[in-house]
Amino acid sequence: MPSILSRPSPIAPSVDFDAKGVQHGHLRLPYSRDDSAWGSVMIPICVIANGEGPTALLTGANHGDEYEGPAALFELAQTLDPAQVSGRVIVVPALNYPAFRAGTRTSPIDRGNLNRSFPGRPDGTVTEKIADYVTRHLIPLADIVIDFHSGGRTLDFLPYAAAHELPNKDQEARCFDAVAAFAAPFSMKMLEIDAVGMLDTTVEEMGKVFVTTELGGAGTATARSIEIARKGSLNLLRHAGILSGETNAMLTRWLDMPSSDCFTFAQDEGLIAFAANLGDPIVTGEVIARVYPIGKTGIAPIEYRAAMDGVLAARHVPGLIKAGDCLSVIATITAET
Ligand SMILES: [Zn+2]
Repeated sequence: MPSILSRPSPIAPSVDFDAKGVQHGHLRLPYSRDDSAWGSVMIPICVIANGEGPTALLTGANHGDEYEGPAALFELAQTLDPAQVSGRVIVVPALNYPAFRAGTRTSPIDRGNLNRSFPGRPDGTVTEKIADYVTRHLIPLADIVIDFHSGGRTLDFLPYAAAHELPNKDQEARCFDAVAAFAAPFSMKMLEIDAVGMLDTTVEEMGKVFVTTELGGAGTATARSIEIARKGSLNLLRHAGILSGETNAMLTRWLDMPSSDCFTFAQDEGLIAFAANLGDPIVTGEVIARVYPIGKTGIAPIEYRAAMDGVLAARHVPGLIKAGDCLSVIATITAET
C-alpha cells in the first residue's frame, strides 16, 4: 500500500507545463455526484512560456468571493504575449473554482476553506485535493508565487500587498522586495490570526518568494482595486525578470501589525455603527465602532475602542455583526517609500 503522501493526485492537467507558447486548459478534478456520475470540477489554468527564465505562479479566488485576483488574472491570461516572456507564467485565476462559481468564501461541495486546507490530501475532500495538487505539482514549479486576496463579503481592507516575518531572513528580504515591487498603495508586514493550513505558509516553507494581498473586499472589486491588481501582477513579473522593463514605482505606505492588539472582535451581536473610515488615523482609546442591541430601544451600545494607535486598515462589512466576528484591524504606518 502506498502511504497517503505518495498517492498520486486525481487531478489531471490538460496543459503541458514544459511546452512553449500559450496554453489555455483545465485542471480536471474528478467529482462524482448525483447530477454527473463521472463528472469533474474544471479549474481554468493558463501557461505562457518562452525562452529561459524563472517561473511565476499567480493565483486568485483561493477564497471564492474575492474578485481582484480573478479580474486581473483572467485579463493577464488573455493578453500576455509569450514573445515578451522570458521564463514561464502559470495563471490560475480561480483556484477554489467551486467556491468562485458560488460566490462564496468556502466550497459549496464540502464547505472547505481552501486557505485552511494546505498542504491538502490526494484522498481528501474536493478542497483538500485542490490544495494537494497545488502543494505537490504547482508550487514546486515556481520561483515566485502571488496569491490574491481581499476581504470577501464580510471584510473590507485598505489595498495592500503583504509578506510575513520568516525564520530565514534572506528569504524574508526577498519576499518584501517583491512586495515593494508590486507597488500597491500600502505594503504590509502581515500577522496572521491563524496561519495553519494556509497556502502562504506552504509556499514559504518550500523556500519560495511569496506575496499575498488584501486589495479591498465587501464582496466585489472596484475599478481602482482591479487596477492595483493588474499593475501589481505586471510589476511582479518584471521584478522576477520574466517581463523586461522597470517596475512602475509608486509611493507605498508601509504598514505593520505589531501585536494581536491590532485585532478587535465583536463580543455580542447587533447593528454596527462605525465611527471611523478605512485609512483614518486612530488613537488608543478612541471609539472605532458602536454595536447596538437590536431587540429594543433604550439600551446603550457596546463601544469598541482602539487598543493601539495607527490607521484603520480593515473593517467588518455587513451592517449586522455577530459575536466573534472580526470588527476591525488597526495597523501602524512605519514608512513611506
Ligand atoms: Zn482571502
